[in-house]
Amino acid sequence: MNKSMTQQYYKEINRLKKERNAIILAHYYQRPEVQDIADYVGDSFGLAQKAAESDADVIVFCGVHFMAESAAILAPSKKVLLPEEGAGCPMADMADAEDLVKLKKRNPDAVVVSYVNTTAAVKAESDYCCTSSNAVKIFNMIEVDKDIIFVPDKNLGDYAAKQANREVILWPGYCNTHDAVLAEDIIEIKNKYPDAKVVAHPECRPEVLEISDYVGSTAKMIRFISETDYKQYIVVTEMGLLHPLRKDNPEKELILASKKLVCPNMKLTTLSKLVKSLEDLTPVIKVDEETAKKARVALERMLKVI
Ligand code: SF4
Repeated sequence: MNKSMTQQYYKEINRLKKERNAIILAHYYQRPEVQDIADYVGDSFGLAQKAAESDADVIVFCGVHFMAESAAILAPSKKVLLPEEGAGCPMADMADAEDLVKLKKRNPDAVVVSYVNTTAAVKAESDYCCTSSNAVKIFNMIEVDKDIIFVPDKNLGDYAAKQANREVILWPGYCNTHDAVLAEDIIEIKNKYPDAKVVAHPECRPEVLEISDYVGSTAKMIRFISETDYKQYIVVTEMGLLHPLRKDNPEKELILASKKLVCPNMKLTTLSKLVKSLEDLTPVIKVDEETAKKARVALERMLKVI
């Protein structure tokens, strides 16, 4: 898209935003031009926090469905819009509330921790929600004699279980984007950039994390790259994160570990869809009150663990 067209969209978005008393929240994996017009760009944890504390009438969520659902649960009096209704998360769709209930019945004393990347119905069946930034802390908070069920990301669950030194019952879900990266891909790119530090997200496979120099949530990856002084970094997470990283670290070379690191769902939101959403105030994301009430308990517990 050329610059003048982008500016036209921005003008229209800013006008509508004021008229609707709206706030735009965007995930780091969104297209660069969408990130640049957002009031706040962040990871799942930061976005959930912003949604909970916002005093806007309308929250436009540039992300995927479960994120907008979380915003609707945490800010029930606001209108929450997801500009592209079809933007889902394949990993969240791998966990079904009915199957979780069956697993709970087989493990009646287990504490259920669900990654924030789950449907509202799964959150409603969970004791805690977590993000990749506080999963280890939440595992550590749970009494040692209790079993833990972690749903749905087996890679994050495995990583957090090892860090917390806990036995965890893992759901067999995964993020198609992060899980697509193989150890061979990392070895290949490391051969090309032998001095670069490999910085990976815990949604990656265990064998990828084992050969990485640093593993952390999106926010922690950003902090590590900003606060260390290496010249080159190989980034093993969705390509959208390179946009803010490059803006904040112009002197560092940031290399995407693999071309596979693209989440097609995160790229569905465009400026034209954003304009349409603000104009029509649709599509609205709602969660039924009974589910929201139960899911809110797990989400609020997540927000307390920083
Ligand atoms: S990057 Fe992975 S976890 Fe995130 S929305 Fe896409 S599929 Fe879901």
